[in-house]
Amino acid sequence: MKAKKIPMRKCVACQQMMPKKSLIRVVRSPEGEVSIDLTGKKSGRGAYLCGQVACFKLAHKNRALDRALKATVGAEVYEQLAHDFLAVEDEFLLSQEREEEDSDE
Ligand SMILES: [Zn+2]
Repeated sequence: MKAKKIPMRKCVACQQMMPKKSLIRVVRSPEGEVSIDLTGKKSGRGAYLCGQVACFKLAHKNRALDRALKATVGAEVYEQLAHDFLAVEDEFLLSQEREEEDSDE
């Protein structure tokens, strides 16, 4: 019996449960600063998004992030997040690919 537990989290935009590793964490620090947390180690209240721009846009549109973080996320913060999101998307997708790759070269 295999009982390996994969931590699952829900994308705040599309409401899909996904393995934590394949989601991007957005965190609101105790100081109220909202930022993207690729390390998963920043303290504060976190929300998870699929590593897809579509879900980020959806979260923006329906204010899902605001609700998940229990804070008003300002337009300029969304702009910054959008910028960061695009910046990390490639990195994020690359790391996903690397993990899926067979290492028998
Ligand atoms: Zn999603």
